[in-house]
Amino acid sequence: MSSDPNCIFCKIIAAEVSAAVVYEDDSVLAFLDVGPLADGHMLVIPRKHYTRLTDVPSELCAHMASVLPLLGRAALEVTKAEGFNVLLNQGAVAGQAVPHIHFHVIPRRKDDQLGYRWNAGKYPEGRASQLAAAYQAALSHHAT
Ligand code: AMP
Ligand code: ZN
Repeated sequence: MSSDPNCIFCKIIAAEVSAAVVYEDDSVLAFLDVGPLADGHMLVIPRKHYTRLTDVPSELCAHMASVLPLLGRAALEVTKAEGFNVLLNQGAVAGQAVPHIHFHVIPRRKDDQLGYRWNAGKYPEGRASQLAAAYQAALSHHAT
């Protein structure tokens, strides 16, 4: 499906819903998040409707990613932020609310109160090598 008539981001692509567009090309659009976590928070979306990153063709994903340095530099220059986060939520469990995949670019400042509960864990003996082997096996039978 290249477009979903019920999708708010497809409506932005079709110019049926307005957005503060910051960048566009043949396959990608970037615009301001209407509910910003920080001043200048942007979203980067493919023009084609994909719900999941795992369904996006590698070439398109690579192109989406290729605009991130450009958008990041613009974010630092325009908002005077000290850094930024690039975030992508796939699945409701990960916080995905809009079913058209998107990267968030979120400008960050010291003491901005944003952040994760980054509760770093520790692998028990053997688990990391078991996981790495399982990932390698999975990757060997998944096409890119
Ligand atoms: P996520 O939770 O990763 O799916 O993020 C969805 C994001 O889309 C939220 O940060 C919303 O504020 C944003 N959003 C939803 N509707 C619009 C819209 N019409 N224009 C711009 N941003 C939107
Ligand atoms: Zn869509």
